[in-house]
Amino acid sequence: MRKRFDQDAEIPAKYRENDERFFSASLDAGLIEKETPSSLERFCRRPAANARRRIRPGSVIITVYRKLFSRFGSQRWWPAKTRLEVAVGAVLTQNTSWRNVEMAIANLRKAKALSFRGLRGLPRERLSALIRPAGYYNIKAARLACLMEFFDREFGGNLDRARSIGTQDLRERLLAVKGIGRETADSILLYAFNRPMFVVDAYTRRFALRHGLLNGGEDYAAVQKLFMQNLKCDVKLFNEYHALIVRLNKDFCRKKDPLCGNCPLKGI
Ligand code: SF4
Repeated sequence: MRKRFDQDAEIPAKYRENDERFFSASLDAGLIEKETPSSLERFCRRPAANARRRIRPGSVIITVYRKLFSRFGSQRWWPAKTRLEVAVGAVLTQNTSWRNVEMAIANLRKAKALSFRGLRGLPRERLSALIRPAGYYNIKAARLACLMEFFDREFGGNLDRARSIGTQDLRERLLAVKGIGRETADSILLYAFNRPMFVVDAYTRRFALRHGLLNGGEDYAAVQKLFMQNLKCDVKLFNEYHALIVRLNKDFCRKKDPLCGNCPLKGI
């Protein structure tokens, strides 16, 4: 029987060195299931028609992962060196592209401010100026200040101290921080604290809607539940899946004019 919400099932690190073997290990470890029925070969480019059809969401969700992983391989997310850098990036990436975030992060690093002490000691105006490339810089500077205050209050600036806090408890505490919404909180939980939370973003909604997994009226919690109920609860799997969805949307499933012809999900 497929295990769910099991944080102990680890894929051996050696498999991550080789994408194909990692994928096989995912199957062997029971993190994903083998593709099931041929009925999956039905959906593409006709979201309205897809939505009307009866599909098996669990099978589609697992097949999507298989196909994306086979095409793109491991994305090795999150592109950051520390937990704190992940958290900073999660705030900076709100409503902007990752390229802009990279410039803001580079500015912080160059100013030797990409640390808890560095950020805490930075005057607000200076912080705003450094993160300007990420857009909405005054708002984001205020949000980062609130997040650092939270890390200070809760963990004395040492994010490793979050280990003893349960995932839901930590999530609720993060959501209580001004400017930290569900997507940002879950990104921090998954990528900074290695907690099994599936991150839902506009990319997730777009491809899921186009393939009939959603009807468009679902809220964040409903979309998250759809994925978490149909996948083994595993940090590495959630990490990889979200990263692959981002890659899919950037390369193929664009907002306008999706490139379905050569997309790995063509036919699903
Ligand atoms: S681009 Fe790919 S994911 Fe997007 S609708 Fe077309 S086949 Fe589906």
